[in-house]
Parts: sequence; structure tokens; C-alpha cells
Amino acid sequence: MTVFLLHSKRCFIENKFQEATLYIKDRCIHYIFNGQKRIDDVPFTSYGDFIIMPGIIDAHVHINEPGRTDWEGFDTATQAAAAGGITTLIEMPLNASPVTTTIDAFRQKKEAAKGKLHVNCGFYGGLIPLNAVEIEHLITFGAFGIKGFLSHSGIDEFPKVDAEHLKAVAPVLKQYDVPLLLHCELEDGEVPKVKNPKSYQEYLDSRPQRWENNAIDLALEIQKEFDIKVHIVHLSASELIEKLADRKSKTDKLSVETCPHYLFFSSEEIPDEAPIYKCAPPIREKKNNELLWDAIEKGTIDFIASDHSPAPAEIKQLGSGDFFTAWGGISGLQFTLSVMNTEFKLRGIPLEKLIPMLTQKPAEFLGLESRKGFLKKGYDADITIWDDTVEYMLTEEIINHRHKATPYLGQKLKGRVTDTFVNGCHVVHASKCINKNKGELLERSGRKVTTGNNSKRR
Ligand SMILES: [Zn+2]
Repeated sequence: MTVFLLHSKRCFIENKFQEATLYIKDRCIHYIFNGQKRIDDVPFTSYGDFIIMPGIIDAHVHINEPGRTDWEGFDTATQAAAAGGITTLIEMPLNASPVTTTIDAFRQKKEAAKGKLHVNCGFYGGLIPLNAVEIEHLITFGAFGIKGFLSHSGIDEFPKVDAEHLKAVAPVLKQYDVPLLLHCELEDGEVPKVKNPKSYQEYLDSRPQRWENNAIDLALEIQKEFDIKVHIVHLSASELIEKLADRKSKTDKLSVETCPHYLFFSSEEIPDEAPIYKCAPPIREKKNNELLWDAIEKGTIDFIASDHSPAPAEIKQLGSGDFFTAWGGISGLQFTLSVMNTEFKLRGIPLEKLIPMLTQKPAEFLGLESRKGFLKKGYDADITIWDDTVEYMLTEEIINHRHKATPYLGQKLKGRVTDTFVNGCHVVHASKCINKNKGELLERSGRKVTTGNNSKRR
């Protein structure tokens, strides 16, 4: 039996900072004492003014193993996650090979993850045109949601789906109350012909807001027609924010995420020949991104996820500078907390707004809110401890991702994780990984829910 006490003057409990001492027993928060509390023979550590908060839950990560482990693997990605204060992540059904669109592929992925999970990890299943019959199996096998693309995914074996494919699986998603995650870009042929593939403006023009808007309209239609949970991944366009807010006021089955790169960078700052910034949907103009910030403040955007999607330098076309042939994906899950803290502080938005967007809100989206996402008695001891005031320069030496190329390199950031606990185990100390393989493989319950009032699963 392992027992210990963690104290701070700033524990994030019940959505506010308060002095408290967490009594950790085995893998759980056994009790929370107000103020400072010592117990004979129980090890006690005070973190002073550092923040003790629930472990970060990153609901959107691409790890690429098996099959493209040279891009990123479970070992490196989950170490980077732990160093960044992430204690749980959910992995996308692409870009590993095979893609997670069959039970067999799902088994291979779970097998590949064994012995390499330094934080908790669950999975989504994928929807492609010919696998509707697999969806129920993926759900009963523990998938946290089903992800589909409405535009080319970048991976040929993960083709896009259309309204008919979504309608075909909606009844199954409804039966299990599992969310449909949609990459919302709906391609049309009406984009300008590319003249200079190294121009960021041309790349931006090739994926207009209109594509996102059209896809979101379809997503809203499906949500309404079938009354299923629909989740808009990585919102980058601002034009339909009012519409999303309006629909969210009428249903609790619509959720929206965005990513740090849409909030931290803007297209005006992105030089030509710099595909390190390439992602889809693209990073848009400052004016657009300010409206994403409004949506964060108003709560229309539910949570922030990294969409960590790395690739080797040659596949990112870092040599040629060609935006159109480069892999689209931003690498950076280790730095979500620092990047967001830097920007929230600059804007004077309190951490009481940020922390739930990284913990409680994704826990609720994933149906994990009865054991993760909060510092509460009986909850899993997934804990992030960090200094929100320290400034540091992001250098290659501190990156735990497989590839060090990230657009955040060289940025001066504020706030750094010092310690991370996963399931009650101390996995990061002094910002270094000290304990491995303490994460567990997570599965969603995979039980049918009765139709009718089914907003809670667990
Ligand atoms: Zn993604």
C-alpha cells in the first residue's frame, strides 16, 4: 500500500484555488484536507505556491503506432504527455497502419501500446465508407467515439465519408450514446489554382472557411435528425460560432474543441516556405482567431486538445518548403499547458477558465467524469503540479516527442509542469520522467443505453 500527502496553497478544487492537502492512497485520492495537514509516518510534500490540479486530459492525439512508429510512437508520445502534465489521452484512429477501422486493427493497436503507456490511453474508432458493420464492434471493444472525415484525411486508407455514411451509423451511435467526431471541412472545387506552393496565403486560400461552414452545417443536421452526440474537432473557422452557440443552447449533445495552435499563432505571422505550421483546417487570420477567443470566453468552445500529429522532417517538407505536399499536422502535446497559460495570462483570462477546459470538460465529453478530471475524494490520483509563473525558452533538449520539429520551438513560454502523478504513481519529477509504464489502457464501457434520457453514460 502506498500512501502520501501532497500539499499546496493553490489546489484547484471545486473550480477555485484553495490551500489543501491531498491524501493519496494506492491509486486514488483517498481524502482531501483543508489547509495543511500532516499524519504520522505518512510522507508529506509541500509544493508551496505551485498549482496542484487534476491531470490534463488530451482528447485528440495521433500516435501513429503501429505502422508509422518512425513518425511517433506510444513510448515517446506518452513520455512527452507526462512531461506536459497530461495524464490521460485518447488516440485517433489514424495515422497508424492499419487504421483503426476494424476490430482486428483495434486489437493490433492495443497490442502495440502494451508496455509503452506512461500515461493513461484510450482510443477512438474510425468511420470510412465501407466499414459501417464494424462500428458496433469498435464501440463494444471500448472505443471512446467514432471519428470520420468529411474531406480527404491525408491517409488514402482512411477515405472521407458523406451524409449517407453518417446516417447509416447514426442509429448505432444513438443506441450506445457514443459521440461522432467529425473533421469538419467539406471540399468543393471552387478554390483558386495554386501558383506558388510555398506561399502560406495560397495554402490558406486553398482551405477556405466556407469548407468548415458547410461541414458544420451537415454535422448540425445529423445531430438534430438523429439526436446523437456530435463533436466538432479542431474548430478553426469563426463564421459559424453564433450558430454553434445557438444549437448548444438547445442540446447537450453538441460539443466543440479547438487547439492551441489556432489560438497562439495567426496566418499573418507565418512565413512562406514554413510547412512546420501546416495543419488542416489551417491556422487563420488574427481577426478570425480573436473570435475563437471570444468563443472560449463565452463557453461555445468546450475544451482544448492538442491534435498532436507529428511526422519526420522530410515528410513535413521542411527542406523544400512546399505547403501542398507537406504532411499537415502540428506537433506539440507536451506544451499545451505552457502555451495556453502564456496566452491566457497575456489576455488576463483567469486560470479558473483554462483549467476546466483541459481537465473537467474533456472528462465529461469522454464519460470519465466519475473518476477523472477533478480533484475529489475517491477519484483517480491523476495529478498535475506546475509553476504558472516561471518563464522558459522552448529548446530541443526538453522535447520528449520523437521529432523535435514544432512551430513552438524558440518560443518563450510561461508556466511549466514540475511533477505529474498517474494513477497515484510519481511519473514526472523536476520536469523529468522518473517512472515508466504507469499508464493504463482505458476502454469506454461499451454498454447500450436505454433510449430516451441518455445524457449520462456511467
Ligand atoms: Zn487530428
